[in-house]
Amino acid sequence: MSLRAKLTLWFTAILAVALAAFGVFVFAVVTPTLDAEIDSSIQTRAHDLALSVRFINNQVFVPTKSRVPDSQFRSPSMYSVIRDARGVVVYRSETLQGGDLPAGPQTLAQAHAGLPTFETVRLADQEIRLYTAPIILGTRIVGYVQVARNLSDIDAVLNHLRAWLLPGAAILLVVAAVGGWLLARLALRPMDRLGQEARAIGLARRIDRRLPVPPVSDEVARLATTFNEMLDRLEAAFDLQQRFVADASHELRTPLTTIQGNVDFLRRSTDLTAAERAEALADVAAEVARMTSLVQGLLALARADADRHLERRPVELRHVLAGAVHQAQVRARAAAVSVDLDDIGLAPGASVRADPDRLDELVMILLDNAIKYNRPGGWVQVVARTDAGSHVVSVADGGHGISPVDLPHIFERFYRSASARADDGTGLGLAIARWIADEHEARIEVESRPNVGSRFIVTLPAVSAPVGPGITAPSSR
Ligand code: ADP
Repeated sequence: MSLRAKLTLWFTAILAVALAAFGVFVFAVVTPTLDAEIDSSIQTRAHDLALSVRFINNQVFVPTKSRVPDSQFRSPSMYSVIRDARGVVVYRSETLQGGDLPAGPQTLAQAHAGLPTFETVRLADQEIRLYTAPIILGTRIVGYVQVARNLSDIDAVLNHLRAWLLPGAAILLVVAAVGGWLLARLALRPMDRLGQEARAIGLARRIDRRLPVPPVSDEVARLATTFNEMLDRLEAAFDLQQRFVADASHELRTPLTTIQGNVDFLRRSTDLTAAERAEALADVAAEVARMTSLVQGLLALARADADRHLERRPVELRHVLAGAVHQAQVRARAAAVSVDLDDIGLAPGASVRADPDRLDELVMILLDNAIKYNRPGGWVQVVARTDAGSHVVSVADGGHGISPVDLPHIFERFYRSASARADDGTGLGLAIARWIADEHEARIEVESRPNVGSRFIVTLPAVSAPVGPGITAPSSR
């Protein structure tokens, strides 16, 4: 069912319930009000009639017809009767046309006891409201006065009201439903238009197009803005992806060209010395190694882009750092760079929730760079300390440092400083490091001065609960 139909249906249903409640309320108020009005009017008239009665020898006597304010009772729906003490009629209104009002023994007994009564009785197949009251002279009851009103005209009015209310409500409902249907279309038309525009964007695959945002700030404008923001993010992600693919193919082309060149050279030249052949092959091997690390980096980032989350568990930080520093010391030997670890400031058993392999990779990337961009005989120092709910690991070196021009970009994919381009790097290391840090809810920052050195600082949230005996010990390597 369309939203428009649903809205109209709800609207009409609510109106129908409201109208029904209103009808019930009207009858609940009107009926008792009318009843009370009738009772009070016949009581007043009975009182007036009783005042016109005269007495002779304590007998009720209605002097002459003209003295009775009969005109009041000429209304065809009013009847009145005066009886003497025995109940014999001494006066009756013309409207009764010689008839009588019902005066049951119980009614008269009540009146005799001095109590007036109201009752609804039938008179000649019509409902009447009857008031009977005693006429008292001194302390004696000398007669009775009875006034009645025919209820048929009141019923007719009520029936009339009912007869008008029902079709009236029905007509109102139809008008409201049609109005609601038209209004819903009016209200939903901007939505419809928005839907069509969004569909057109999807069909044309034009992720750079945007929905027109209405100038008033209503729900439709909010929806359009939200949709546009989503498109912004999609476009940014799409651009990034395209740039990534372009950069990756570009980066892969260079080693492939070098390999191709060397292979061609080896094929063509038949009179090569062993040394020349070895040099060409070493070139090929170096390029293959570079490509391998490039492809590994690409794979890691592709995994990051696919939003695959790491499996984290409490890991003791000291073990990870010791393992990484040990590996780095082996690699640094060739460059005659010293690598030291200072973890005195680290809390005993300091743990983080981490994927140990990825955390090791993060530290290794920083250590590799610190060794790579260093001078012969230089130093690298890893300092770890615990500070206000986090563990801070810094990797500092006294190497080349990073120029202020490069500093804001070094975490970007494929970014390498001009001086680093000749090296065997891929420009992916720090991008991967940042992704790993993000996955660990960690912060990674850098401070550096050219020709003085650099310091990379990783702040990891500490595991709040201490690693108990029930938890698997972190892997040591
Ligand atoms: P690469 O494979 O080129 O090392 P990275 O993403 O790891 O790629 O680093 C990006 C750039 O940041 C490097 O090319 C280098 O210029 C700079 N860099 C990173 N670490 C250091 C460091 N410790 N000292 C000096 N420069 C660094």
